[in-house]
Amino acid sequence: MKHYNIALDGPSGSGKSTVAKALSQKLNILYLDTGAMYRAAALKAIKLGVQHKNEEEVSKFINDIDLKIDYVDGAQRTILDGEDVSSAIRANEVSMMASDISALKCVRLKMVDLQRQIAASMPCVLDGRDIGSFVLPDCKFKFYITADSSVRAKRRQAELEQRGQFVNFDTLKKEIEQRDYNDSHRDFAPLKQADDAIYIDTSDMTVQEVVDKILKVVGEGNVL
Ligand code: C5P
Repeated sequence: MKHYNIALDGPSGSGKSTVAKALSQKLNILYLDTGAMYRAAALKAIKLGVQHKNEEEVSKFINDIDLKIDYVDGAQRTILDGEDVSSAIRANEVSMMASDISALKCVRLKMVDLQRQIAASMPCVLDGRDIGSFVLPDCKFKFYITADSSVRAKRRQAELEQRGQFVNFDTLKKEIEQRDYNDSHRDFAPLKQADDAIYIDTSDMTVQEVVDKILKVVGEGNVL
């Protein structure tokens, strides 16, 4: 198999992770959820009682963070200090903290280093905010996936409900818009569409339609 990576960037709730999972299964390549890494960093700060925006305090632990990405039956498991935190990092409270901590340069440099190592070792589909624009600028396939913020809040609400968390729609929409703002206005490696990324608005598309569109491009890319 030829080595290639697929970058799926875009704001929260745009459907990236669902699409990335489907693509990884179809293409039989790894799925790397990079948001999980920032969420784990946020969880570590909570454990240590460190304020998420305090760069000085965060820089003291981030380089030695014991964070591993494992795969069990093809599903990503996020292991922090030897403990599987894959569920804990999904709690809604962790989302905004992840957004705050991910704005710190020391955190991004550490996580980007891990992401580049994984992406170099095997073909993968990575979902994130800056994969095509910063982490893997030479990535062969780049997509920027977005959707209207109301649609994204509805999707996020349904996802949380499946996990037994019930959050008001307006609250979620506000949180999503706040995260969009944070993610796209940070100084270092902000959420941004790479110049050579293909833009997909999924507001009125099914997951299958998005997956098919991407598969078509990858199929034409002569890597399969
Ligand atoms: O994708 P997810 O919502 O799990 O990501 C959580 C947070 O991590 C995002 O709001 C964003 O601030 C940050 N993130 C990032 N860069 C990535 C992936 C996620 O800054 N590549």
